[in-house]
Amino acid sequence: MTTPSPPVPQRLRRLVLVLGDQLDAGSAVFDGFDPEHDAAWMAEVAEESSHVPSIKPRTAVFLAAMRHFRDELRSSGRPVIYRELDDDEDGGLVAVLERTVRAHQPESLHVVHPGEHRLLVGLKEAASRLDLPLTIHDDRHFYTTLEEFDAHADGRKQLRLEYFYRELRRRHDILLDGREPVGGSWNYDADNRRSFRRGGPTGLQEPLPFAPDATTKEVLALVDRELGDRAGDLSRFDWPVTRAQAKEALDDFIRHRLPLFGDYQDAMWTDQPWLYHSRLSAAINLKLLDPREVVDAAVDAHADGMAPLNAVEGFVRQILGWREFVRGVYWRFMPEYVERNHLGATLPLPHLYWTAETDMRCLQQAVGQTLELGYAHHVQRLMITGLFAMLFGADPRVVHEWYLSVYVDAIEWVELPNVLGMSQFADGGLMTSKPYCASGAYIKRMSNYCGSCRFNPSRATGDDACPFTTLYWSFLAKHREELKKNHRLGMQLKNLDRKSAGELRAIRKQAETLQRDLTS
Ligand code: FAD
Ligand code: SF4
Repeated sequence: MTTPSPPVPQRLRRLVLVLGDQLDAGSAVFDGFDPEHDAAWMAEVAEESSHVPSIKPRTAVFLAAMRHFRDELRSSGRPVIYRELDDDEDGGLVAVLERTVRAHQPESLHVVHPGEHRLLVGLKEAASRLDLPLTIHDDRHFYTTLEEFDAHADGRKQLRLEYFYRELRRRHDILLDGREPVGGSWNYDADNRRSFRRGGPTGLQEPLPFAPDATTKEVLALVDRELGDRAGDLSRFDWPVTRAQAKEALDDFIRHRLPLFGDYQDAMWTDQPWLYHSRLSAAINLKLLDPREVVDAAVDAHADGMAPLNAVEGFVRQILGWREFVRGVYWRFMPEYVERNHLGATLPLPHLYWTAETDMRCLQQAVGQTLELGYAHHVQRLMITGLFAMLFGADPRVVHEWYLSVYVDAIEWVELPNVLGMSQFADGGLMTSKPYCASGAYIKRMSNYCGSCRFNPSRATGDDACPFTTLYWSFLAKHREELKKNHRLGMQLKNLDRKSAGELRAIRKQAETLQRDLTS
């Protein structure tokens, strides 16, 4: 049942645009909102889930969260003009907005800074066509303003998380003892690389599920009806889609998974998609949760003796560090950033990324759970799907479009730098100090995938050669001149140099066959 809207004022002063990832009733766009004179505007449009082919769980998370937010706004007395996906009118977000403006004749438009360059440009152009003032409000959901990031970045050739993260720890007084880091070290990454023993994770508690209510069920039916041909599955849909649910999910993570988050941050295990991860990214990115409350909850858990420092610092670094850092990179370098292709990779993405049909157990697991749940954890994204795409030589723009389509937390400002910069090295080292390249041996060390795979991670050629290992050596050989500029790859290149010309020829041939077979 849709909550009825308070009447939209006849003479509309402000039309307040609320985009699908701006679901915060306390955001800057609502400062001074007066229900007697102003109205909020929200729109579900097919274009937002088709400019890249958004899979069903991703679209469903956005629409379910939007509809709940619409109802909350209405219940709190704010008029909302809301356009549903199956309303008859055609067109993208901007076209729908223009129709609303013509119908209601507002005096001005207001929006929080969008999370995508394409939308920012589209909205500015629409306002200018409509001859209406558009105010773009700061997004208060971030610790850092874009100006603060620029001040940090100015004059630096390369941007490194570590320096930025320390600045933020000091500026916001997080995990500090005076001016110095609690525990004496800024970063406990070295303690956060454990893998599981033979028996796998023990005492794991599944994340709290959120069974779809009537509103969410309507959305699931709508997505199946309108976007039935899209990849993805909705049968296990249990994401938090309201602020109340997101707060419960945070509490559940802090109690049950944060204590081991650090130790097993990089580990992977068959049929265990969540392990000790928070699965809070979608809730934070949709603005159902404020990153400050998430960071504070983790810091408090440490202060109360509920979670060790390596877990809490590791978790804080992801949110206070990486999340803020990639946003800064995105806005500083867009729109040219998306064009970058430092390694000149041009192949299409193998079709298995849309089906999970492959004998490679690690990819079958990572892609399979992605299509089913809209989720994979960081190391699966970086060291399975991302690594394979880079070693394979897939065009980074196509890789970016896949990532933007498949994850429930994917919004371009956060997805693009992670994909293009961190996982594909397509920005040539602007934001990471080296390409994340590894062979099947890494996956063997960090997971149990290889144990049930028909390939052998230590073999680069032959019938049972692991495709990661074959492509790893051929990648190093192909990009040798470029990679040797980076001293952090010295050991890997030394190992390459130990291979005979004959071995390298056989590896190259096997890599070419793989590339041909997987793209045919
Ligand atoms: P946890 O492992 O529990 O981490 C805690 C929180 O830290 C996350 O919820 C997230 O808010 C934040 N975080 C962690 N790592 C990063 C990071 N590298 N950048 C920004 N925030 C981070 N994250 C997205 O939110 N959207 C994306 O589209 C996205 N695409 C990615 C693509 C690639 C190739 C890679 C390598 C990483 C990507 N990430 C993305 C970052 C990270 O993988 C996800 O945030 C994380 O897996 C979400 O699961 P979680 O909530 O269980 O995270
Ligand atoms: Fe993946 Fe290779 Fe291990 Fe198979 S052997 S799971 S393809 S890394």
